[in-house]
Amino acid sequence: MFDSLKERFENIFAGLRGKGKLSEEDINLALREVRRALLEADVNYKVVKDVVEAIRARATGQQVLESITPSQLIFTIVYEELIKIMGEAPAPLVISPKPPTVYMMVGLQGSGKTTTTVKIARRMSKGHKPLVVACDLRRPAAVDQLRVLAEKANIPFFGPEAGETDPVAVARRSRAYAESHLCDMILLDTAGRLQMDDELMRELESMKEATAPTEILLVVDSMTGQEAVNVAGTFHERLGLTGVVLTKLDGDARGGPSLAVRASTGVPIKLAGCGEKTEDLEVFDARRMAQRIIG
Ligand code: GDP
Repeated sequence: MFDSLKERFENIFAGLRGKGKLSEEDINLALREVRRALLEADVNYKVVKDVVEAIRARATGQQVLESITPSQLIFTIVYEELIKIMGEAPAPLVISPKPPTVYMMVGLQGSGKTTTTVKIARRMSKGHKPLVVACDLRRPAAVDQLRVLAEKANIPFFGPEAGETDPVAVARRSRAYAESHLCDMILLDTAGRLQMDDELMRELESMKEATAPTEILLVVDSMTGQEAVNVAGTFHERLGLTGVVLTKLDGDARGGPSLAVRASTGVPIKLAGCGEKTEDLEVFDARRMAQRIIG
């Protein structure tokens, strides 16, 4: 296991209590540990650089009071800066003033997109009537997976006709189905790939154009590590993401991608998946994530 940042600081700053101002050397030592801790937590290295500079700017010239130790002082600065980057206030999902609200779910294959689609529908079914729509027609199993999960959670489902291959047409038709079944919310589960490719992006762009989604939510596996920034950057550039859902936070990932994705794209992290069951979804909490990242 990793030493927490707090423990590392305590080691560096042992005996420095009540020293007056922190010297440049003290700050450099602390920042070296911050850098290491963030990299170990899988924060993208470019983001680490920016975060470290922001912390340096705040720590320089700070008076160390008798009441707190230098390690506490720097730890607090680091913690506050991380929360600032990830967004202090929760970012709720937007509801369209003119129903139906449409959420387009995107992400790499295996990120948890299908599961998250049903998780969100389930959460929204208090107060709304969501319809989940299978638009991943490349993997026949994906349609069945969504159907089964939706049935279990008692959520209306719409999918392709036998032999249908155009996901944009399915998405378009889902609107009439939603209307006739009094559903005021549509969640589109789109295709993913193991890697991003241009063909997939073009398919998603067409779907965006055809359905004018209220939100485009990127589902990111928190175990993705450094690669999460590139994935989020490409999806954001092509589609204009409105939110991110980070999944598999019940695993032992340190959660660095949440910091890196937010810092590099500016897109808010709205929700967090914390288990395989469809009720395992939480509002993203920047404070808890900061604690998880720096320990
Ligand atoms: P998709 O290919 O992106 O649609 O991904 P799936 O929804 O099929 O999920 C891939 C795997 O990850 C499945 O085995 C899910 O049960 C699992 N999964 C999804 N979200 C979570 C989560 O928050 N925690 C855990 N532990 N597993 C998850």
